Amino acid sequence: MNKVIVNSGLKAFDVEKIRSDFPILHIKVHGKPLCYFDNAATTQKPKVVIDKLVEFYSSMNANIHRGVHYLSVVSTKAYEDSRVKIKKFINASSEKEIIFTKGTTDSINLVAGSFARGKLRDGDEIIITGMEHHSNIVPWQLIANEKNIKLRVVPITDNGEIVFEEFVKMINGKTKLISVVYVSNSLGTVNPVEEIIEAAHNHNIPVFLDGAQAIQHLNVDVRKLDCDFFAFSGHKIYGPTGIGVLYGKEKLLNELPPYQGGGDMISKVTFEETTFNTLPYKFEAGTPNIADAIALGTAIDYISGIGIDAISKHESELLEYATEKISGLEEVKIIGNAKRKSSVLSFVIENIHPHDVGTFLDFEGVAIRTGHHCTQPVMDRFHIPATSRASFALYNTKEEIDVLVSGLKKIIEVFK
Ligand code: PMP
Repeated sequence: MNKVIVNSGLKAFDVEKIRSDFPILHIKVHGKPLCYFDNAATTQKPKVVIDKLVEFYSSMNANIHRGVHYLSVVSTKAYEDSRVKIKKFINASSEKEIIFTKGTTDSINLVAGSFARGKLRDGDEIIITGMEHHSNIVPWQLIANEKNIKLRVVPITDNGEIVFEEFVKMINGKTKLISVVYVSNSLGTVNPVEEIIEAAHNHNIPVFLDGAQAIQHLNVDVRKLDCDFFAFSGHKIYGPTGIGVLYGKEKLLNELPPYQGGGDMISKVTFEETTFNTLPYKFEAGTPNIADAIALGTAIDYISGIGIDAISKHESELLEYATEKISGLEEVKIIGNAKRKSSVLSFVIENIHPHDVGTFLDFEGVAIRTGHHCTQPVMDRFHIPATSRASFALYNTKEEIDVLVSGLKKIIEVFK
């Protein structure tokens, strides 16, 4: 494997060293070295994260918050320390603004359910964009159907960018929330969220950012962005599955009713009445995913040690390299050519179904994702059933991209 050491004011970036931190990258698939390009679906885990899970269950396991015994104190501290790490990582104002959830989908459902109950009335409108993941469409549709709320959708261009003027035109007195994807998982587009937030705030409308594909690639500073809500999933940032985060401004979260009822989210319960716990616990009913929350903190330590700016630079170089190589193949068309893109490369090949591309590449050891990527409206917009998608992470290399490109050349030859 190559050794890329970049040192341009950023932290040194040593791909070989990084690859050695990820045990799974060294397995063989169908006898070939694994080239893992399905990072937008989920990232692989460094050994420190895997070890943290083992350590938790071997020496820390206990339920949190109400215990006075040693193990409960230790696990509570580790869980709350992880919340502090996340707070610092996204530069939130307070730990109260960091709610542990199951992931991005869960975070969006939390806000949809709670916001609908607390803030929405008949006839209100919510704006989303034409490139949302299903998880930023369906939760809003569910409440729209219940409450007679209108969902308005910002159109996208042939390049895969939102039509900003149309978005501005959609804002009106009935708009109660704008919920947009920061980085599109099927097109790679990095949306102009700063401008979206500014336009929304000029009308006092809160903005929810789906950060599932942003947190692992971009420096996210929720205070600088001034977003009102931000959601991400642990498993896409080298942490475990089943854990994620909802950030919300403290004032807004305080105004929202609880989403789920149960243990830990209460202050006092009688059969007549219940009063609720303070933030963030008001939104964390029941025993949370303690081990994975703690290991998510370890994943954040791990990538902070490398530096998001260095990671982002490496991934941009990979995207540029792959885009150049793949655009050189006559039969291939890239879907999503926004000016600002993250490390996602979606493409279609003339007369070859993406599933055939994916299966063929699998036998070369190359893991890509094929399908609609939970963005069926995007597929409809581009009049295609599916794409093949290679998405790059901090441990990928140009040599691996060469394997992908040579696999694509082979399949094009075979199908000729
Ligand atoms: N939004 C985007 C943009 C995504 O890429 C994904 C995951 N593919 C989600 C939301 C949902 O994330 P999760 O399945 O981890 O809840």
